Amino acid sequence: MKEKLMKFMYGRYGNDELNQFLFKLVFVSLIISLLSGRASFFGEIFYILALIMVVFIYFRMFSKNFNKRYSERTLYLNFHNKVKLSLDKQNKIKEQKKSYAFFKCPSCKQKVRVPKGKGKISIHCPKCNVDFIKRS
Ligand SMILES: [Zn+2]
Repeated sequence: MKEKLMKFMYGRYGNDELNQFLFKLVFVSLIISLLSGRASFFGEIFYILALIMVVFIYFRMFSKNFNKRYSERTLYLNFHNKVKLSLDKQNKIKEQKKSYAFFKCPSCKQKVRVPKGKGKISIHCPKCNVDFIKRS
């Protein structure tokens, strides 16, 4: 049995990060489908979506067109990295907002970062050397 399977999978693409991601999407879609009820509109849509993704996953696993699958994988990885980068950036901003207040310089519109909770302070713009008063 195992030999047969190995023979069958020989020369076929198999699994990759995109398939793993699609598996997760299938799982989420099925849960949404279950929660909204199979007979409802959303239940139906997400059930069909899950089925389509399962078919696509198997299609990719058994595919012999490696070039096409690699380019799909690259597309996915690029997308994944972009999302991750922007999430990291947002987290960083959130983290900074906890301890810093951000002000725009009234003369050059440069964003200036100052420690939070210091009361009324004079802020020095590093770009145009203007000082302005704000409450942090
Ligand atoms: Zn300025």
